[in-house]
Amino acid sequence: MLLLAAGTACTRTTTHTEIAPGPTGLLLSPASSWAADPRIGLRRDSTIAAALGEIDPARIRATDSALVAFGTRNTLSDTLSSTRGVGAARRWLYAQLQGASRDCGGCLRVAYDPAIVAVPRHPDSLKVNVVNVLGVLPGRDTNRVIVVGGHYDSCICAASATGVWDVTSDAPGADDDGSGSSAVVEAARVVSRRWPRGLDATIVFALYAGEEQGLLGSTHLADRLTREGKTIVAAFTNDIVGNVVAEDGTTDSTSVRVYAADPDSGATRELGRYVWGIGALHLRGFEVRPTWRLDRIGRGGDHSPFVRAGWPGLRFTERLENYKRQHLPTDDFAHVSFGYVAQVARLNAATIVSLAAAPPPPDSVYLRRDAASGGQAWTVTWHDVSGAAGYELLVRRTTAPTWERVVSVGRATSYTLDYQLDDGWVAVRSIGPTGHRSLARTAGPPPRPPARPTR
Ligand SMILES: [Zn+2]
Repeated sequence: MLLLAAGTACTRTTTHTEIAPGPTGLLLSPASSWAADPRIGLRRDSTIAAALGEIDPARIRATDSALVAFGTRNTLSDTLSSTRGVGAARRWLYAQLQGASRDCGGCLRVAYDPAIVAVPRHPDSLKVNVVNVLGVLPGRDTNRVIVVGGHYDSCICAASATGVWDVTSDAPGADDDGSGSSAVVEAARVVSRRWPRGLDATIVFALYAGEEQGLLGSTHLADRLTREGKTIVAAFTNDIVGNVVAEDGTTDSTSVRVYAADPDSGATRELGRYVWGIGALHLRGFEVRPTWRLDRIGRGGDHSPFVRAGWPGLRFTERLENYKRQHLPTDDFAHVSFGYVAQVARLNAATIVSLAAAPPPPDSVYLRRDAASGGQAWTVTWHDVSGAAGYELLVRRTTAPTWERVVSVGRATSYTLDYQLDDGWVAVRSIGPTGHRSLARTAGPPPRPPARPTR
């Protein structure tokens, strides 16, 4: 299914080689045992597929239209008016999440998440009340949390050197980031209605404030969740996800960029591979373009505070940005493609549900060179995971962008792999009873025993 706004053109299509189980039980492509396919080992879920069809571009459009109508959503703007400024916008967003909660029997816990924070860049060291709006869908495990966010504040910071402090002029922010905020509200509505009793992990739908003054709202939420002892499974920001025409007229409504920071064996990169695979599985004709860096050059976003705190975090951004329509009064409603935003919302929804339905990955995975094989095989061991019905090993060369082989090992917690791991990576992921896969945990050498004191 591909929904395009009127006037936009489909410029890219992708095909993927089907991978069939080979005779050894490994998944092998017909041409090569090393053909990379981001879907490797993942299974399509028909309930998720049905939910994606409920994501409605018209609702996303209505949400973005309402946000733009508040005139400005600058974090330092009026908070008392009921029709203009950041205060009116956040009360309206709160009401939208409450409406979604009513429709799922009260399943969402809707809350303001306020923090009085100093604005480091402000010339008078101003302190401001930064208020995120959250809708929480509790899972069976309320300690494991998936955060899916966008920022509802706006600015005309590119209009002048002091534009970021302009709290009265119109700052429509239809794309930046009315688009991401509207996608998050729609994902909250659809996911909560389909899974009103929640999944295994808890999902937090987050609408951040203070992004434009220095990621203030997301920094507060990342700190707060970390302080509360939560395990953050994933933190997504959807920021600038609605433009499909670049300044030079180039058009692309069928691919999205996903930014995932180094290191290549880290959890953030694994999250990038997971989104890539889920996108290829569920959104035929819409290409996920993984980009292996934290963000666009010289730019930042609300995933960064989570990544800095050591959690897996990603940014979703349209493939073609138009800098004449960012941080300016020209970031207007007429130039957002809501069919495109809906595809990004579907990618988010499919990924968060898959991850939230899966058990956690093994907490640590160790490698040992297998002496009996003369070093050509390696033994991989890990701890059993509560809630896992089985495990898979994933193998790739160090230069491969994603996993190239999958080895199903049932319920074993140790496996000797016939591959020279000096030349590659191996990871282990958990499989839940419903077939959903966790992120993969990359193996490393076992910790050294503490050195004995020498005399
Ligand atoms: Zn933004």
